[in-house]
Amino acid sequence: MERQPTVAQAPAPHVVFLPFPAQGHVKPMFMLAKLLCHVGGFQATFVNTEHNHALLQRTLAGDLPPGFRFLSLPDAVPHDREQQQSSISTVRELFNSIRNSKPEFRRLVTELSPTCIIADGIMSLGFDVAVELGIPVIAFRTFSAVCAWVYFHLRDLIEQRMVPIPADADMDEPITSIPGLEGILRRRDLPSVCRHGTPPPILNFFLRETESMRRASGLILNTFDGLEGPMISRLSTIFPQIFAVGPLHGLLSNIVKEEPLTASNGGLKEEDRSCMTWLDSQPSRSVIFVSFGSLVALTEAQFVEFWNGLVDSGKPFLWVVRSDSVLGEDEVPSSVKVLSGLKGEEAHDWSRCCVVDWAPQVEVLAHEAVGGFLTHSGWNSTVESVLAGVPMVCWPRLSDQQVNSRAVSDMWRIGLDMKDTWDRSTVEKTVRELMEGRRDEIMKAAVEMAGIARGNVEEGGSSYCNLEKLIVYIRSMC
Ligand code: UDP
Repeated sequence: MERQPTVAQAPAPHVVFLPFPAQGHVKPMFMLAKLLCHVGGFQATFVNTEHNHALLQRTLAGDLPPGFRFLSLPDAVPHDREQQQSSISTVRELFNSIRNSKPEFRRLVTELSPTCIIADGIMSLGFDVAVELGIPVIAFRTFSAVCAWVYFHLRDLIEQRMVPIPADADMDEPITSIPGLEGILRRRDLPSVCRHGTPPPILNFFLRETESMRRASGLILNTFDGLEGPMISRLSTIFPQIFAVGPLHGLLSNIVKEEPLTASNGGLKEEDRSCMTWLDSQPSRSVIFVSFGSLVALTEAQFVEFWNGLVDSGKPFLWVVRSDSVLGEDEVPSSVKVLSGLKGEEAHDWSRCCVVDWAPQVEVLAHEAVGGFLTHSGWNSTVESVLAGVPMVCWPRLSDQQVNSRAVSDMWRIGLDMKDTWDRSTVEKTVRELMEGRRDEIMKAAVEMAGIARGNVEEGGSSYCNLEKLIVYIRSMC
């Protein structure tokens, strides 16, 4: 029997969901759509790109709630991608895939005439169409609140000439002009698009998308009051209607009883579960789980340094190495080649490591053997680690990850930030610090935060209540 928040019954609203077509965006949007169907009795139309639609169909498990359906937008993904059945993993391809989607989305929304649209915070075509057709629109920013707040100050930083960061800038110079983050952020903690060498169109894209979000009547975030209360209140000065409903995977498994915490909700890749058996054979809290998400790629040199650092740390490790995790000199994916080279080295005890192409990450983080997470600080990975109470070593590369990693280390103190370094001795030292030296202190904070996260998604908790508020808000649009 499902426990459901108490929300007055009224005619079912129909919401069109428009995620940005990357793994880290599709997943939380998918969970939100399911929750609104399960709890609010809503109708949901989940609009994916054709490519992601095909991928998602292969990983869907269990029944979808009544009222949930898919539609897809044509994209420009090359056919060989379809054959590879892999998710898109270069940022350029991602943006290209949606470049011409607006007319089709407009046609589709005109036909559906929904109660409202929930569009990803970087899918301004959703806001454009909503405004043109006079349909209410709510933004779902799948980043942290702290990063969303930083993006709203990007223009000021440009005016102050802090951004774009000059090549010879002191990266440790404090950023003092973002309210609430004084004493926390340094130049190197700003989103990666602020860095020297970022093509101006990319920085402009984020400026434009952030401004565009202001047209939304409300903001949804996959975070929770206990983690980001102060940042959420600051954002509420821009969006009086704000709904922090995270961690969404925790909320979903709490509310929908048949939905295990470990369900692959909105995953675009098939998971290799063989690592679970390997984890079963490892001592409690001994393993460091290594995953850099769906987009981050390492150079061959970086990969080899991480490998050696992990081996030298003496800790067992489970590493997600996608086929496109390593860039060759000519940008040809070469993970397989590099890995087989490393496997040729005889000195290593291979029972101490396990490598998979894609793991059931939420389940891995919840496994008793896992004691640390070496992560790229993508926001989903971060909240998954927070809910599981697993401390992190952060190695951010793209976009919001630079901000998240600083928050993990210096605001919430549940991990260590290793940004901008990757030599083997730093990797070894940082992993040892997390797993041995500062273990008690960091583990204590991580376990406490996990308890707070669980409380926030339980009945009466802030995320649970915010979901109820969101349902009432959308019903009021009918
Ligand atoms: N993920 C997974 N298996 C893996 C690696 C990642 O299921 O082996 C999932 C992970 O649980 C998270 C998502 O992929 O939900 C990655 O999102 P995130 O925001 O952390 O990073 P991104 O891929 O957007 O950089």
